[in-house]
Amino acid sequence: MNEDLNLKSSVGVVGAGIQGVCSSIYLIKKGFKVTLIDREDPGKQSASYGNAGHFSPYASVPMNRPDILLDVPSMLLNSTGPLALKWNYVPKMIPWFLKFIKNCSSKNMMHTAKYMHQILDLAIPAYDELFEDINIEGLVENKGIMYFWTDKDLKSRELEIRIRNELGVKQQILTPHEIHDLEPHIKQIYHGGIFYSNARHARNPKKILLKLFDLFIKKGGKFEKKDVKKINFSTDEKPIIQTELGSFHFDKAVIACGAFSKKLTDQVDENIPLDTERGYHVHFKGHDHLLSRPVIFLNRGFGITPMEQGLRVVGTVEFGGLKNPPSKKRILNLVNNAKYLFPELKEYQDEWLGFRPTLPDFLPVLGPSKNHKNLFYSFGHHHLGWTLGAISGKIISNMIAEENTNLNLTPYNSKRFS
Ligand SMILES: Cc1cc2nc3c(=O)[nH]c(=O)nc-3n(C[C@H](O)[C@H](O)[C@H](O)COP(=O)(O)OP(=O)(O)OC[C@H]3O[C@@H](n4cnc5c(N)ncnc54)[C@H](O)[C@@H]3O)c2cc1C
Repeated sequence: MNEDLNLKSSVGVVGAGIQGVCSSIYLIKKGFKVTLIDREDPGKQSASYGNAGHFSPYASVPMNRPDILLDVPSMLLNSTGPLALKWNYVPKMIPWFLKFIKNCSSKNMMHTAKYMHQILDLAIPAYDELFEDINIEGLVENKGIMYFWTDKDLKSRELEIRIRNELGVKQQILTPHEIHDLEPHIKQIYHGGIFYSNARHARNPKKILLKLFDLFIKKGGKFEKKDVKKINFSTDEKPIIQTELGSFHFDKAVIACGAFSKKLTDQVDENIPLDTERGYHVHFKGHDHLLSRPVIFLNRGFGITPMEQGLRVVGTVEFGGLKNPPSKKRILNLVNNAKYLFPELKEYQDEWLGFRPTLPDFLPVLGPSKNHKNLFYSFGHHHLGWTLGAISGKIISNMIAEENTNLNLTPYNSKRFS
């Protein structure tokens, strides 16, 4: 399809998180008439607002790995650890857990790693295309991302390091001395670390999202602040997006509602096992000078990113669905972990709970609906949805424009759950 043909086609994109906004820009660049619909103002409280801001092109090794199952009980019992459950949600999550366990074989782990790597490798160049049109000065830093650990109670990092080497990911093992040179303010509790020099970080993910949103509007995009209730189809299979305040007719539509996408996909007769890994952040205002780049303390599974808001302390994987209230215990856990590394930290602000959209095989869903050729999906990017915003948007726009990407996109199709 060429741009002139696209000009006649309208696309409705539901969800103005990083996935929806990036898809909308790439679509409008191809000549489509695009309307973005969200029940909130863009980036209000979504995952795309509160994430750790890592652009992590190296992060191809998934959570579904053979050794994780043995670790889960001790992780749940460890009060300073990264994993938590809302017990009232466990019965609802059992089908997801069973599928997750099935995906923890070496073969499935390598399948996910390969196809995460395929898109992660293109993630930063895709953002750079979008950043050409906005001013990101002071908002994106190219200083890499550092992980560190103590030997105590930590399983070997060897598996991840080996797989990343096999995939050609650039990584540098660090000695304690090198960790100190990179980040001299962290308490010197560590025994080893690893540095990903080509990773970047956002100093304010919401500001970047809003700049991209403004670019979309400047290019002629329309925004409707509406709550989408349902997607119907006309007799010629065109999507009709029903909101609480009327319906919108389009030639094509994209569902990009992050962890909330399942409500809409269930209604179009797809059984996609999307659930959420809840995560939290707090800010220590005025302390961002303590770090130059994001750091992750692996023993306790949390990270700290220097941002405009101060130090953003981010972490926890909590299985508890979309409706349970936040857990004060998890927030205090993050606060205490941050104070462990930086004893000078005192008061914190801005408790935030966010929803990572996660499929049990840790691959996103990108592509056309199983049942409706004019409906497309872009969700399920779990811990990496911020990193993968631009490349997923580019892929979705290629698919809608019926252009070849030279990528194998079958592994991301929703049909894998049929
Ligand atoms: C604690 C935490 C830390 C993270 N850190 C990182 C990181 O450092 N790097 C990284 O790459 N990723 C990170 N992630 C993951 C990343 O933030 C998410 O994968 C990504 O933001 C998901 O983007 P999205 O656009 O799919 O969804 P969202 O950002 O959740 O946006 C979905 C949008 O859809 C809208 N919506 C939902 N339902 C409807 C409806 N019915 N009608 C209208 N609108 C609707 C919502 O209002 C929202 O605006 C983190 C996530 C969390 C929770």
